[in-house]
Amino acid sequence: MVLKMLCPDVYLESIYDLDLDKLKKKGIKGIITDLDNTLISWGEDTIYPSLSEWFEKLKEEGFKVCIVSNNSPDRVSIFAEKFNIPAVSGATKPRRRPFRRALEKLGIRPEEAAVLGDQVFTDVLGGNRLGLFTILVIPVSPREFIGTRVVRQIERYVLKALKKRGMLPG
Ligand SMILES: [Mg+2]
Repeated sequence: MVLKMLCPDVYLESIYDLDLDKLKKKGIKGIITDLDNTLISWGEDTIYPSLSEWFEKLKEEGFKVCIVSNNSPDRVSIFAEKFNIPAVSGATKPRRRPFRRALEKLGIRPEEAAVLGDQVFTDVLGGNRLGLFTILVIPVSPREFIGTRVVRQIERYVLKALKKRGMLPG
């Protein structure tokens, strides 16, 4: 069913609401995260202490992290280097290939991975296509790439439909 492919396993206000103990209990060892409007506002490059602390906590708790972003290598590498983690840029999500590459980089199996992102049609759909655990967050900022803004209107419709059917968690 199409709607099921667009449905996240978890729906959160932000990355800071992520329950790491719950993920661990599920056997999740690695997080494949989106960049723009998931970790940071689109177009912004100031890294706030809260984000650095979040990465520290993930590391302390033993999670591996890989950024998978459709954005350019120039932008993605700034964050990958800052947090010393692998990344896949120019990712063409929701294709499966960038997610497979992230699994390889992290050295984990699909059932050990969680996908974290702010978009249904790239992050959630891409993760679900590979059977990964998917976590949707509300976008950090209303500012976005113009192409994304069009997709958001359809996304709102999908989220409403999921909610109406009682499929949307949280
Ligand atoms: Mg995003």
